[in-house]
Amino acid sequence: MESEIIKSLTGRYCNSLSGYSRWLTREVAIGDIPMGGVNPIRIQSMTTTDTMDTIGTVEQTIRMVNAGCEYVRITAPSIKEAQNLANIKAELLKRGCKVPLVADIHFTPNAAEVAARIVEKVRVNPGNYADKKKFDQLDYTDAEYQGELDRIFQKFSPLVKICKDYGTAMRIGTNHGSLSDRIMSRYGDTPKGMVESAMEFIRMCEALNYYSLVISMKSSNPQVMVQAYRLLVETMVAEGMNYPLHLGVTEAGDGEDGRIKSAVGIGTLLEDGLGDTVRVSLTEEPEAEAPVAKALANRYERRAVSVVETTTQITVPEIFNPYEYRKRETYEANTFIGGHMVPRIVLDLSKANLKDQAILADAGYLYSPILDKYNMADRSVDFVYLADQLPSFNFPGNLKQIYNQATWQKLENKANCHPLFTLNEYADASGKCTSLNLVSLKPVDLSGELFSRIPFDETLVFVLETSAENGMADQRSFFFQLEQFDLKVPVIIKRSYEFADQPDVTALEQLQLYAATDLGGLLIDGFGDGIWIDAPSIKAADVTSTSFGILQATRSRISKTEYISCPSCGRTLFDLQETTQMIRSRTSHLKGLKIAIMGCIVNGPGEMADANYGYVGAGPGKITLYRGKEVVKKNVNTDQALDELIGIISTDGNWIEP
Ligand code: SF4
Repeated sequence: MESEIIKSLTGRYCNSLSGYSRWLTREVAIGDIPMGGVNPIRIQSMTTTDTMDTIGTVEQTIRMVNAGCEYVRITAPSIKEAQNLANIKAELLKRGCKVPLVADIHFTPNAAEVAARIVEKVRVNPGNYADKKKFDQLDYTDAEYQGELDRIFQKFSPLVKICKDYGTAMRIGTNHGSLSDRIMSRYGDTPKGMVESAMEFIRMCEALNYYSLVISMKSSNPQVMVQAYRLLVETMVAEGMNYPLHLGVTEAGDGEDGRIKSAVGIGTLLEDGLGDTVRVSLTEEPEAEAPVAKALANRYERRAVSVVETTTQITVPEIFNPYEYRKRETYEANTFIGGHMVPRIVLDLSKANLKDQAILADAGYLYSPILDKYNMADRSVDFVYLADQLPSFNFPGNLKQIYNQATWQKLENKANCHPLFTLNEYADASGKCTSLNLVSLKPVDLSGELFSRIPFDETLVFVLETSAENGMADQRSFFFQLEQFDLKVPVIIKRSYEFADQPDVTALEQLQLYAATDLGGLLIDGFGDGIWIDAPSIKAADVTSTSFGILQATRSRISKTEYISCPSCGRTLFDLQETTQMIRSRTSHLKGLKIAIMGCIVNGPGEMADANYGYVGAGPGKITLYRGKEVVKKNVNTDQALDELIGIISTDGNWIEP
């Protein structure tokens, strides 16, 4: 059965690139709640209390279970916390809560060996479990490399044996920021390095006939994370393995940013049919994570039983590499969209009051009646769609208007105004715009007779829609076909949504999660020259913000400061939510800077490499400040740390007054 499952992988890393099909993994028992196989995608999270605070941890765990967590992870930084897991477990049982517990281990094999006798699962990080990490650049000969592996095997095998004896499962949880020196020396901090880091530990487990494994490949950069999971699956399949996948984006942040970033990473993989459990890491209360994770996972409940293929047979172009970012090559239309331009944003204002200039604030243009001019923000959209509505005021010069073609034809002044055609209209159109023509179509149209009739020139831009349930794969198949036909037409990806508030998740949150999945998944593969979110039930300003958030999370267009903040856990020695807000309040105008805010350094300075600056807990009341991976100031008092951080940013010439 397993080998049949493995052979069925045709998309290199997933069952199908053109439809939804869940990759079947090995079922792993974790207490009474099995994971993998045909089980539902499980929801989990991690406590933020001090593990020595038994009652606080128990009460938070129960709140998390009530919010939907099926497993609860608790940090065990040393033996005493590992031992206290027994008290936590006993108290939970006393209160009727049998949720499987997971001990989170970094650096401390002895704590892992205690915890593995108590809880249902342990998580080890191969980057810091018995492996060296001094953050040095070291060279290893083959013999030295193998010698290190032998040494790790000796240190790791007692834990594996305990897990076997006690029926405890294990997550091998690789983190992009904390790869060992040995892995870094051979592979760098690449998806390949992350995969090898886990594979070495998996091979050791298999050598000891232990198979109760779950694997994760987390990063704060959704693109790296997606590439690493995909490469992991291909690598596992090549070695005859199909262990369940735990999906997560680390340090995703909070609010809109956290939800969008998580969805870009987790949602993209779920669309690929990968993932058996989800943990969303938000810098919020842990109970806030489960509804978000559930909203992401539940979307696939209906799809899980069947493979929905697109209506056309597609060929994956050779040029598509799911493990490396490459932007699809397009021409630049009207020196505005496509080519090397950042992805453009379209906002639908066709139902807005077009008699009031102030409505353009939703699009990022603030009208000043005194000066009679618009001020453009960093987050100003590029196009508004007005359908057949004519505004009674002048638009800012840099905001393009899109009209349905019949209305556009009748405009007296067409400056900055462009037509939107159906495929049918464009095939037979007599009057076209000399600079930019948008043509709306669906993937299925590529194989139709109409498509072969449309004229191609460099004024043409496609607006790609879909009504397929597995819309991301449907639209991805369109891009594959364009590559096959060698068509360099820029494409605006459009998705339409209708949401209502649900008990656990608002309409806006649903938009953030699903649009980030659907559009973000394509953008991180390099597809799309623009995005258009059509969501009539959501305020236009929120649609604008979501659109920019998706481009920011996919790193395709940076419009604000990025915060890489951890969710906090029992290791955290300061209030992360409060600190993140405080740092945000003084730095949110520093567009393009990435600031990491971490409770501790277990995820390593690798995460800092992705950030420009780091603010990291170093001990009670102490913060260490980083520039990239480099420590700049150690053990700064908490009350001075933010000023010191701003001082470092200023010294580097990156500070601007708000
Ligand atoms: S980085 Fe944050 S969540 Fe991760 S172990 Fe440290 S304090 Fe806990």
